[in-house]
Amino acid sequence: MDIRGRRQSSNIEDRRGMRPVRTGVGLSIGGLLFLGVLTLLGINPLPFLGLATKAPEVQMQQTQEPYQESAQEANLRQMTAVVLADTEETWSAILPKYGINYVEPKLVLFNGLVESACGTAESAMGPFYCPLDQKVYLDMSFYVDLTQRFGAPGDFAQAYVIAHEVGHHVQNLLGIAQKVRALQERSGKVEANALSVRMELQADCFAGVWARNAAQSRQLLEAGDIDEGLRAASAIGDDRLQKMSQGRVVPDAFTHGSSEQRARWFRRGLEAGTLEACDTFGATQL
Ligand SMILES: [Zn+2]
Repeated sequence: MDIRGRRQSSNIEDRRGMRPVRTGVGLSIGGLLFLGVLTLLGINPLPFLGLATKAPEVQMQQTQEPYQESAQEANLRQMTAVVLADTEETWSAILPKYGINYVEPKLVLFNGLVESACGTAESAMGPFYCPLDQKVYLDMSFYVDLTQRFGAPGDFAQAYVIAHEVGHHVQNLLGIAQKVRALQERSGKVEANALSVRMELQADCFAGVWARNAAQSRQLLEAGDIDEGLRAASAIGDDRLQKMSQGRVVPDAFTHGSSEQRARWFRRGLEAGTLEACDTFGATQL
């Protein structure tokens, strides 16, 4: 991407200077770790809300000094703000056609630990979207993980992650997230996981819709960007993650979809550029 001279979103909420302060009963490390395993890489933390709200008694407070960012962090923040701004252009152009007014989400930058309306989260969980406060939470150290742990370098790999989380926000505005949650509450674990896979693949597809709009309407993409996005989508597939963590693949436990599925739905959104193409719930074959 060439981000020079492009608009940066004003919806960035910088909480990087905040540190946790213990209050009350104390921090439930077990609860946090449990949530951490479940929400790795942005699984909607809502189904586990009960647990999250019960767990920690911490408050984040601003330290005396404002956060001093390095030149590299400043570049990443600017890239993040440009991509977020571009998702605003895309979705405020597309959603009114479906009778929906696009409410722009906030993107919270944090370091280490953050409080959201969905509970307290650590950066090890990966970026996530909280539907209760309509905010995307991102520790930019995840960009380093993408490159070093997951082998998906490049600014467009990072952009894909932002666009995927914004995709969850679009699902929220469309009312899809609420319907799926209600269904999940009535179903067993295997079905609930299968529904989660469809949710995640749809967010990947919406990221593809954004990429197409960004390329066609504003020429944001450069050669090689799509490959970076596809590599990121497949790098964080459940099969790959499971193999990295436990050395084997358990399809029933998938909550995001396989590497191949994630890359396929991202590409589908990219090629079609419409919400209709992203009907992962109606698709017989994922
Ligand atoms: Zn997701």
